[in-house]
Amino acid sequence: MGNTNLSGTTLCTDTHTPLILIADDDPATRLLLRHTMEQESYHVLEVANGLEAVEIGKQHKPDLILMDAVMPEMDGFKATAELLQTDECKDTPILIITALDDDQSISHAFSMGACDYITKPINWSVLKNRVSRLLQTVAAERKIRHLAYHDTLTGLPNRLLFADRTSQAICRAQRNKSRFALLFIDLDRFKVINDSMGHEAGDTLLKSVTRSLKSSVRKSDTVARLGGDEFTLILENIQSTDVVASKAQYLLDALSLPIKIQGREVCISASIGISLFSDDGESFGELLKNADTAMYEAKQSGRNTFRFYMQEMSSAAMQRLEMENNLREAIENQEFCLYYQPKYKLQSGECCGMEALVRWEHPEKGIIPPDSFIPLAEETGLIVKLGNWIIETACTQLQSWQQAGYGVDNLSINISARQFHEVGLTELFARMLKEKSLNPANIELELTESTLVQNQQRAGEILAELNSMGLKIALDDFGTGYASMAYLKDFPIDTVKIDRSFVWGIPDSKEDMAIVKAINSLAEAMELDLIAEGVETQQQLDFLKQLGCQQGQGYLWSKPLAADDFEEQILKTHFGEP
Ligand code: C2E
Ligand code: CA
Ligand code: CA
Repeated sequence: MGNTNLSGTTLCTDTHTPLILIADDDPATRLLLRHTMEQESYHVLEVANGLEAVEIGKQHKPDLILMDAVMPEMDGFKATAELLQTDECKDTPILIITALDDDQSISHAFSMGACDYITKPINWSVLKNRVSRLLQTVAAERKIRHLAYHDTLTGLPNRLLFADRTSQAICRAQRNKSRFALLFIDLDRFKVINDSMGHEAGDTLLKSVTRSLKSSVRKSDTVARLGGDEFTLILENIQSTDVVASKAQYLLDALSLPIKIQGREVCISASIGISLFSDDGESFGELLKNADTAMYEAKQSGRNTFRFYMQEMSSAAMQRLEMENNLREAIENQEFCLYYQPKYKLQSGECCGMEALVRWEHPEKGIIPPDSFIPLAEETGLIVKLGNWIIETACTQLQSWQQAGYGVDNLSINISARQFHEVGLTELFARMLKEKSLNPANIELELTESTLVQNQQRAGEILAELNSMGLKIALDDFGTGYASMAYLKDFPIDTVKIDRSFVWGIPDSKEDMAIVKAINSLAEAMELDLIAEGVETQQQLDFLKQLGCQQGQGYLWSKPLAADDFEEQILKTHFGEP
């Protein structure tokens, strides 16, 4: 998950009044700007040059900065670049106000990181509108990030944020040549308490466990809740494994102190598994998996104890190697096929396209879902060959349906990170469009945010090329990654796809519903189409429809189907017999 530091995220309440920083050397312009912003009920701070803008920006963390381009001391371009380097303002939108409406200074403003510009003489209603849109985007992003990265019951970082923190710890450890420990803590017999005393008691217990864990570690150590009764902890800069062992014992002792719940004293214990960076893994996934394996060992040996991970504990490495070989062979033997899942317009109920989803038809094991082999294909580079096959097959299918007379005009293809960054993607699409005589506007590529933030500049270039060819771009799994359009505003994106995990939270999870709402308003502010995936119930559909979400996809309508079944069951009903 890169190096984004999410620790500074704050929950943005609806009562928050935005603070605008105005930087302009001309007192008259400042006065007018202040007046206009105050009319919109924003708080305002003023400065007269770039140096002060950087100073005051860092101190007050404004929600938005209006920055004059030409100023004494330090100009607006330099001040913009400097502000965006600071921890305090790295996500703050900066709008450059310039009398220079030549192309060069505008592209200079963007290259310094400004998110928009406005020219003098100022058109006040355009300015108001732009400011309001930018603020709406920022507020929605903040909300999504907080909700998506914390556990509401305990307020602890959740799995996503923990993954990010672990990645940061890995970077630090690599830099300082140090080690750190990842502890996987699982409560013993939590279910018994939950079942016998009720969920409320369970919640009280989890909160109390959170308190003891937090008070048993240094402030700088990250404690997270992965879900249920599973907690994780990172201990950085460890000198020896003895230190980790005594810390683990200390935690076990702290957790076994009696807790008062509903007037009764309850005693619990925990089992802890420990993995060490880099001895037991070099990635978050590996470290977590190995700590989990060690935790099971601790449970096996009678609970209320801890275990360090040892290689013999799992034959996972062997299995992986075998899987890799199988996958290589499967690609040679063409054991793959594409399934298609229809997409629908929520208002009219019309089918409006389909997503191609790959399946491995294993000769012995039957159909294997993509989640079990795409990550491995990515790691090993096999994805490039497989991905090319997927693109060719999907394009051939689209051509064949169009030639059969079905009015299909939207087909989505998933593109994984490595496939995207590997040379040749644009060439392949160019060839396909030509060979199959396809209209590029009928093809949509589904990419994830993490794909685009890896090597942003190169990603921007590839996207620009795909876009200039006329292909559509959708942002997949939105909300689970960076959830930051700030990174992406300059990318030509057409559609945002709300991740299915949030849709499933409707109507029971308030957080998930809040995330869906926030994503919806973000998409509105950015004027992007919105599609919800994983829609399974009428209730979810009603909620999405009411929000104004345009499209949906999910088991409520249909599971992904093999091409023949798709034609029989979907195309013939929706597009008529050709
Ligand atoms: P994704 O792109 O988010 O695809 C949506 C997944 O949600 C699909 O799983 C689909 O079958 C499933 N789904 C759709 N509606 C529902 C629903 O209502 N309920 C439930 N429970 N599930 C629903 P699938 O086909 O197993 O694919 C999983 C992931 O594997 C995809 O997630 C995508 O990231 C990856 N993948 C699939 N096909 C390809 C491909 O051709 N290329 C690449 N690079 N990745 C692929
Ligand atoms: Ca997808
Ligand atoms: Ca998705």
